[in-house]
Amino acid sequence: MSEDLTERPAGRALIVVDVQPTFCEGGELGVDGGNEIAERVAAYVAAHRDRYTTVITTQDWHIDPGPHFSDHPDFVDSWPPHGIAGSPNAELHPALAGLAADHAVKKGQYSHGYSGFDGADDSGRTLETLLREEGVKDVDVVGLVESHCVKHTALDARRIGLGARVLSDLTIPVSPEQGVVAREELNAAGVALLDSSAL
Ligand SMILES: [Zn+2]
Repeated sequence: MSEDLTERPAGRALIVVDVQPTFCEGGELGVDGGNEIAERVAAYVAAHRDRYTTVITTQDWHIDPGPHFSDHPDFVDSWPPHGIAGSPNAELHPALAGLAADHAVKKGQYSHGYSGFDGADDSGRTLETLLREEGVKDVDVVGLVESHCVKHTALDARRIGLGARVLSDLTIPVSPEQGVVAREELNAAGVALLDSSAL
């Protein structure tokens, strides 16, 4: 048996987290650089779709998420309303129009929903179920934002025994400081952090 077998694309998923206008410039919770990340993710998938068994998008899709929304948000655990289910800014970013994802997961209807693993597709299949059905052993996680939903999705992937990488040039934190903290947590959990150009 060769170690090279672990590098085969079979069994690897790309999870595109919350690339939605609500998290980009002009959105309700816009992060500077969000639109550029959307463009970069689209270009990466267009060039490297064949690296993945399956491509899955997630969307923040809030209906009544309780303390996730606040009139006095701290921008750490509470936020101004964003990702409102059914609103135009909760749709996938227009840059992803040609993405042709295999599955689409929505999350956070009645909770924080920081992790893609909190979500399910329109037929009720959870992200974990979708990954198991596709025979996925490893995931690459990209999207918005690194310090929150990207981080929690990658950590949960590790928690259920999957290999996980975050592609650092295809994500961005809500602030530089929270990005540093997030990367420490990811490192500690065994999530690989690397630039997509290194793949
Ligand atoms: Zn949210």
